[in-house]
Amino acid sequence: MQLRMTNQREIILRELLESKQHLTADQLYDIVKQLMPRISLATVYRNLEILSEAGIIGKLEISGRQKRFDYDPNDHDHIYCAVCHRVDNLNVEGAGVQKENLRSVKGYSVTGYRLEIIGICPKCQAKEKNKENDNE
Ligand SMILES: [Zn+2]
Ligand SMILES: [Zn+2]
Repeated sequence: MQLRMTNQREIILRELLESKQHLTADQLYDIVKQLMPRISLATVYRNLEILSEAGIIGKLEISGRQKRFDYDPNDHDHIYCAVCHRVDNLNVEGAGVQKENLRSVKGYSVTGYRLEIIGICPKCQAKEKNKENDNE
């Protein structure tokens, strides 16, 4: 797909790629408005949707949470922190579902899947430990 790159779109894309994170439109808006004070949240959001539809970035729809945009458009799984809601890529060998095994399930023709792994990230675990120590 041929995508016209406006200046705004280019900056939004660049900041997401450089963040190497999975950001919500709000988080990205906070970053790009430092560079383009007149940009609106709606514009950031619209550009992110366009970029993800063009396959340039990924989009994560996590149950019951705000959409996040992924600097990496390739298929991969994610792990979520239940405490701070950060999202990390999951690169554990064999952790994901093998797509080849999923061509058909119960007569369905499978077009995609979503794996949600939830845990507590190292930062939040460390915070919990500190809390425990404070109580002693
Ligand atoms: Zn966390
Ligand atoms: Zn990712």
